[in-house]
Amino acid sequence: MLRKRQVHLDFHTSEHVPVGDKFSKEQFQSALKAGHVDSITVFSKCHHGWSYHPTKANKMHPNLKFDLLGAQLEACKEINVKAPVYISAGYDEKDFLKHPEWRCVVSPNKEGQAEYENEVHFHLLCFNTGYLDVLCSQIEEVMQNYNPCGIFLDIISPKICYCESCKRDMKALGMDIENEKDREAFSQIVFNKYLEATNNAVRKYSEETTIFHNQGHIPKGDYRFIEKNTHLELESLPTGGWGYDHFPLSAAYVRTLKDVEFLGMTGKFHHSWGEFGGFKHPNALIYEAALSIMNGAGCSVGDQLHPLCEMNMATYNLIGKAYSMVEEKEPWLIDAKNTADIAVLSAEAITGDRDVKADTGANRMLLECNYLYDFIDEAAALEKYKLLILPDVEGISEKMTEKVKAFLKNGGKVIASAGSIVKNNEFILDFGSEYIGENELTPTYLIPHYEVVNGVTEYLMRADFNKFKVNSGEVIASVQNPYFNRTLEHFCSHAHTPNNPDEIFPGAVINGNVAYIGWNIFTAYANHGHLCFKELFKAITEKMLSDEKTVTAEIPDKAVVTLCRQEKEKRSILHLLYAHTTVRGKGTEVIEDTVPLYNVSCAVKYEKQPGRVALQPQNEELKFEYVNGFVSFTVPRVDIHAMVVIED
Ligand SMILES: [Zn+2]
Repeated sequence: MLRKRQVHLDFHTSEHVPVGDKFSKEQFQSALKAGHVDSITVFSKCHHGWSYHPTKANKMHPNLKFDLLGAQLEACKEINVKAPVYISAGYDEKDFLKHPEWRCVVSPNKEGQAEYENEVHFHLLCFNTGYLDVLCSQIEEVMQNYNPCGIFLDIISPKICYCESCKRDMKALGMDIENEKDREAFSQIVFNKYLEATNNAVRKYSEETTIFHNQGHIPKGDYRFIEKNTHLELESLPTGGWGYDHFPLSAAYVRTLKDVEFLGMTGKFHHSWGEFGGFKHPNALIYEAALSIMNGAGCSVGDQLHPLCEMNMATYNLIGKAYSMVEEKEPWLIDAKNTADIAVLSAEAITGDRDVKADTGANRMLLECNYLYDFIDEAAALEKYKLLILPDVEGISEKMTEKVKAFLKNGGKVIASAGSIVKNNEFILDFGSEYIGENELTPTYLIPHYEVVNGVTEYLMRADFNKFKVNSGEVIASVQNPYFNRTLEHFCSHAHTPNNPDEIFPGAVINGNVAYIGWNIFTAYANHGHLCFKELFKAITEKMLSDEKTVTAEIPDKAVVTLCRQEKEKRSILHLLYAHTTVRGKGTEVIEDTVPLYNVSCAVKYEKQPGRVALQPQNEELKFEYVNGFVSFTVPRVDIHAMVVIED
């Protein structure tokens, strides 16, 4: 089983600074103990290209005088801390300078350059060169000499490359370097070659060693990549560019994959990797660790070791505050499976675009409405869900369309938006409406036929809209157009043209098990965040789920709610998490002071009268009622994270 209290100990060290002079086994061990750490990823080779142990396959860091890796591994073994080994794969700055022919040329106009052209930074190497063989020999050497429990290979992803070797091999395969599709296809060929070769280098020596290839994102629906890893590590530093909503989205997908264990990887830094001396507030790390465990993940905290190799005790005391909490809660985390009412068919899985906004917007709405949800790809089974969301984007396969139809036939419900169910100018599902076409005027105005906080009026919709005709069903929202588009020919006022009340047509409809929203509401919510988008989504979802909704908690939109089941222990665990973020500096969202929530009422759909309801690990029993299949109780205090355990 994957350990739940891990540290990723970054150690990228220039040849211009001293290394290792202050390493002490006892100091290393006491830091790990203070941090309640049970696994730490240590370094064989860093982005600068240096090894931290004697080597024939590479060069040892010129200022290192002993086997640092060996000493760290021994220190860990003595105190039963696991220690996977990191090997930089994508970057090797030493070899980038020594072997220009191995350079990844990411742009035809920038020969010899790589990512971060305008910055002082590491440069990428191309796996379609002799570099791949060298990398594999470095992996083999580590396997032979240290037989580590895991190998972590870093910063790799399919890269379009214009190096001589890529140009030559594309030509040999009959591919055209001028053609974008060919370039993409070839980058995937090279990437597969890398995955295959590096995995073989590990497997040649051990079947047990874990393998993870890090690309900073788990691409949804891409099994060519996913299956090459023994487990997944979801790199997601909330203050390092990923934001606080990225991890819940990534976890909501990864936990649907069969038999895949995973970690949520955050950092101890104020911002991100490489930040010597950067610290976040302990409340932030407690929040981030709790967010991991309540989403079915173990935890990993990124740290950067000082070149002299003395572990920073302020860092490990900080980590200890979060990991002592995780350690106490572990009995309720083992084999706990997340429950979900709703599945979202990931727009990324359909389009292959990892920056697709439809997923971001859907995830935010679901989080803010405190629904229980998963993100899925087309391979997932739908039966366990009550409601399926098809967000915005076109391109669902024929096979998936048939799956959706069968799901509806068996009583499942579907909310579709914009182009998600449009093919060849027709709806692919039969729900009593006819597709007309894309609306030419923008922005539109929504008139709700449901309760909203500001009352019924015309609400601005900064979103694309598909027109449709309703033959049967309940129109839940109507639309008005503006008088005209804002163009060079004419405009009105500062922003956009007001609504024209003369014409009104359907904007969203519910008919039986299908709801359709004409706007690309999820993409628009990610871009603009208007409340009226979420109110529309929530009104429809509440109607569709009705009394099938598993959890209702009177808790703010910023709170996160999940429910897990430990089948063996015959108990369910309700997780409630709450902290507010504040923007500091240039847009960094931080957590510092926290405000507890008091007397949170909750209702959980439960098959039978529970034997006991208690807050854990404090073992504080809660009074509860069991009426009409719902167990209800009040949580007296949520101080960042609370765990209510309902026993059968
Ligand atoms: Zn290349």
